[in-house]
Amino acid sequence: MVVVMKPGAGQSQVEHVIRRVREMGLKEHVIVGTERTVVAVIGDDRNKDRSVLEVLDGVDKVVPILAPYKMASVEVHKERTVVPLGGRLGGSIGGTRIGVIAGPCSVESRQQLLEVALAVKEAGAVALRGGAFKPRTNPYSFQGLAEHGLELLAEAREQTGLAIVTEVMSVDQMPLVGRYADVLQIGARNMQNFNLLAAAGEQPRPVLLKRGISATLEEFLLAAEYILARGNTNVMLCERGIRTYEEYVRNTLALAAVPELHRVSHLPVVVDPSHGTGKRHLVDAMCRAAVAAGADGLIVEVHADPEHALTDGAQSITPRQFADMMRAIRRIAAAVDREA
Ligand code: PEP
Ligand code: MN
Repeated sequence: MVVVMKPGAGQSQVEHVIRRVREMGLKEHVIVGTERTVVAVIGDDRNKDRSVLEVLDGVDKVVPILAPYKMASVEVHKERTVVPLGGRLGGSIGGTRIGVIAGPCSVESRQQLLEVALAVKEAGAVALRGGAFKPRTNPYSFQGLAEHGLELLAEAREQTGLAIVTEVMSVDQMPLVGRYADVLQIGARNMQNFNLLAAAGEQPRPVLLKRGISATLEEFLLAAEYILARGNTNVMLCERGIRTYEEYVRNTLALAAVPELHRVSHLPVVVDPSHGTGKRHLVDAMCRAAVAAGADGLIVEVHADPEHALTDGAQSITPRQFADMMRAIRRIAAAVDREA
């Protein structure tokens, strides 16, 4: 960080700043300008509280230079991370091939799940999504099939080889979900459940971390940092739309987050155009736009009978629409030197 003194700040005020910087275990480099003095702080100050310096007499402002997250940052980790998904297909997300995760919002029945799983596999998905534990706004809505849903997901993996991506909502569910899942999803509503993030960092499965509906990118990356800091380096960031004043969509899909996250972080970025729009007719175009913007993966809700889906039918596409979308993104992927 850089401490900018007010014009006319005295020598004793600058010296006081220097003393506090040294007490923090850091070094200073003082630059005396014609208008003001600037104290550049040298050393890793990510975990230092800059408000301590901000309130000192004679200080105008403190400008952070380093991102507050470390392991998630390109400053610390230059190579891009490729996350292996597991499953017999051996897919991954983060390399040249764009990984597509597809399946129903919720696991509803054996027939529903297997039908979709076979279809999305056929169309080129590398992983099957499906919630067995559902975070629902209304406590009277369908809450998921719980362990039975996980068993069905495992059966679908057996039949198709697809890796299984499914949500874990709490620390106590972690061992159970981890027994069945290849990838743990942490949902938007849990992005700042710090105990859950830490627990996800201490288990071996890769994590798909969804952006909270009102989270800034910095908060999103700090949430990822919780997982990384506990030792799990297989983290994927999922942009799934944020809440805005707009009403023509359920959430506003922030596609600029894709190149921005790539600029500041080495973690792969997955786009969820289903929750990101809430509207089936917008999903295909947003998949294409996400690939054009450099997304490393997509997660898409697919249902054979969306009208009767127990959750998120309005944003679920059919297997046929999914297959068409896959064909379309292959052409976009080729245009941006990727494969799908
Ligand atoms: C989901 O993937 O079905 C889901 C609930 O997502 P989010 O946490 O992004 O709302
Ligand atoms: Mn959903």
